[in-house]
Amino acid sequence: MRIRALILFLLVSALRSFPSIAQNQFSFVSDFAKAGQPASPECLAESTLFMKLLSAYPHPVSGWSFVLVCDDTTWQHVMRKIGMADDIGEHYGETDIKDKLTLIRGTKLTRADMGVPPERIVAHELAHVMLRSLDEAQVDRQAFAWMAERHGGVPKSGIRVHHHRGR
Ligand SMILES: [Zn+2]
Repeated sequence: MRIRALILFLLVSALRSFPSIAQNQFSFVSDFAKAGQPASPECLAESTLFMKLLSAYPHPVSGWSFVLVCDDTTWQHVMRKIGMADDIGEHYGETDIKDKLTLIRGTKLTRADMGVPPERIVAHELAHVMLRSLDEAQVDRQAFAWMAERHGGVPKSGIRVHHHRGR
């Protein structure tokens, strides 16, 4: 239910729409962006990186909305709106399966935390989307499998990826 409030919030914010990627919707939001003005260089850099990673990983053919949140002030604002501001731990993205909406914390793409490369953030949210799953362990397994596949099938050290051979 809380995501409904978020959608309303996004609609009244400075939300910019890009041409759709396949039949998905991509937009970005920032408390600091004024309607009719160009996006900040930071926001554009985050958007470009996100688009690149999105196209590198399995993603829905149509009907999904991706919203890049350009700065952390706006991200905290969005988290408060959806009642997640008090959640423990860092949030890099949020996916709402029912409403087909994924939020991405843009600053974590261009200024990655140690051990959390941008592709991991995008692959993780896309695994939520493609598996229609909220099971974090299952989603992480899928995300790591995709990442290993993208990098030539060599799993990153310390990450266990199961390979199933043909029967
Ligand atoms: Zn998750």
